Amino acid sequence: MNDASAHRPRFDTEAVHAGQHADAMTGAVIPPVHLSSTYVQDGIGGLRDGYEYGRSGNPTRTALQRQLAALEGGRHGLSFASGLAAEDALLRALLQPGDAVLLGDDVYGGTYRLLTRILGPWGVRVTVADLGDAEAVAEALRREGPRVVWLETPSNPLLRIVDIAALAGLAHEHGATVVVDNTFASPALQRPLTLGADVVVHSTTKYLGGHSDVVGGAVVLDDDALAERVGFLQFGAGAVSGPLDAWLTTRGIKTLGLRMERHSANARRIADFLHEHDRVARVFYPGLPTHPGHEIAARQMSGFGGMVSLALEDAAAARRFAEGTRLFQLAESLGGVESLVNYPDAMTHASVRGTALAVPPEVVRLSVGIEDVDDLLQDLDDALR
Ligand SMILES: *Cc1c(COP(=O)(O)O)cnc(C)c1O
Repeated sequence: MNDASAHRPRFDTEAVHAGQHADAMTGAVIPPVHLSSTYVQDGIGGLRDGYEYGRSGNPTRTALQRQLAALEGGRHGLSFASGLAAEDALLRALLQPGDAVLLGDDVYGGTYRLLTRILGPWGVRVTVADLGDAEAVAEALRREGPRVVWLETPSNPLLRIVDIAALAGLAHEHGATVVVDNTFASPALQRPLTLGADVVVHSTTKYLGGHSDVVGGAVVLDDDALAERVGFLQFGAGAVSGPLDAWLTTRGIKTLGLRMERHSANARRIADFLHEHDRVARVFYPGLPTHPGHEIAARQMSGFGGMVSLALEDAAAARRFAEGTRLFQLAESLGGVESLVNYPDAMTHASVRGTALAVPPEVVRLSVGIEDVDDLLQDLDDALR
């Protein structure tokens, strides 16, 4: 009896093997990167394996899309030129003029900008709420009847935690589609589709790529009809990932499980250290038992991730600290093997200054890399003095 279907490979096995098949002709273990923009037809319309033109399909992108779907446990994975391109295609597939979106009050600033400044003029309305506040969510769902509820957990940069299963239950009662931006946790630590979310989006630029050398985005979902609409926009609007980008992302993903273990272990040590430090006013890390979302995070995540934020005495101290580290390089972005420090108020979150999504000016965000943690601790200690 063939019971191959009874055994689904586990996460780290999928990360290495999903979508990856040795080349049939040469036996090359790593499938070749397909750079071709077009494909020979065996007679008019006689496509081999469905490939016709690089925007409509590319085997290297197909491999990445299978890998993405497998890791999030979804039926469909779609890969895009950036996280925001993925979000744009998804939102245009979901929304009509006049529709509302309910957004967490600490989602990625670029998502807010996309919704308010690009989709806003096309008639999309945005409501912002604290998605950890069940009363506020219920009220917004009743009042606005949003088509989409969009959340991030852990959030950026305050690492707030939302109970995905509870929120999805509430949103579904009101007929909304629940989208989780899973960039911060990555599927190695959290799988929103298994918790009741309808769609997962990623900036694969961050942990999935993992090496700060490629920009990309992804949408993963189960719903066949919605996947077809997103796929049509991927093809018809054309924000696809190029083959080299797709290949680099696939390569990064193979070590995702290992990297997230190390990111999480290093971040935990750093959060504990900062928590004890007399120059630090507050630490934001869901792995700390004192974090208000700790219990929910422990339930819905298998690790607490590599992002740690801290509040210093005031804005001046925060700026001095962000400019004072050596190993932690001052830069936007996150999720790479190297540690980065970011001052959200003037860097990543400058576009949401003065809005409901503004970040307190005494906050600094760390993307903890996979270096030796003792070197990282030394660097932070030096910069705090
Ligand atoms: C970076 C980021 C995005 C946007 O992705 P790009 O690849 O930069 O377009 C979206 N969401 C989160 C949480 C991010 O960190």
